[in-house]
Amino acid sequence: STNGQITAADVDKEVHHFPPCMRHLQGTLAEQGHMRHSGRIQYGLFLKGIGVSIEEAMVYWRRAFRHLSDDKFQKEYAYNIRHMYGLEGKRTNYSPYSCNKIITSNHPGPGDNHGCPFRHFSKEQLVTSLQQQKLGEEDVGSITELSDQGHCQLACTRHFEITHRARLPTTGASIAVERIIHPNQYYDQSVALVT
Ligand code: SF4
Repeated sequence: STNGQITAADVDKEVHHFPPCMRHLQGTLAEQGHMRHSGRIQYGLFLKGIGVSIEEAMVYWRRAFRHLSDDKFQKEYAYNIRHMYGLEGKRTNYSPYSCNKIITSNHPGPGDNHGCPFRHFSKEQLVTSLQQQKLGEEDVGSITELSDQGHCQLACTRHFEITHRARLPTTGASIAVERIIHPNQYYDQSVALVT
């Protein structure tokens, strides 16, 4: 799922197309100026998937880690970013993580920000984050009803339907949205509705 070139400066303008997991990572990074390894991998590979080149990724992360000196950034983080793009180590061309991988592996611990909000947030944290996205009580209820039952990807699909309601083509009573199985699919589907 590669779209055109997304520059470092463009990334934060694309957030309204991001699924909840990536909105959370983007928001945390902007707020804290730091992110732990697992979050960097989940978010960094997603950014690679939306069309951020290695050069632009370096600019983006360097700016985002605003508390670090250039020297420390180069020594401790640059390798990691190049590694995601297959330029170091085994030179594997890593793919962005699927929902299934994010939901079922590497459970976040305290202080971690990776994972899936529908699986790893507390109920209270999930409700608060949905309210911050300006979702009404009924919509929040219809999403959390699904996540409470363990249907994270259906909850995310519902989130997509609700947040794109105004722009979706309707076919009779049902809405034509593909079930979300990948964060980059969420992004691509969202972009497709405005282009
Ligand atoms: Fe992200 Fe997938 Fe969870 Fe949606 S269901 S928030 S895309 S991991």
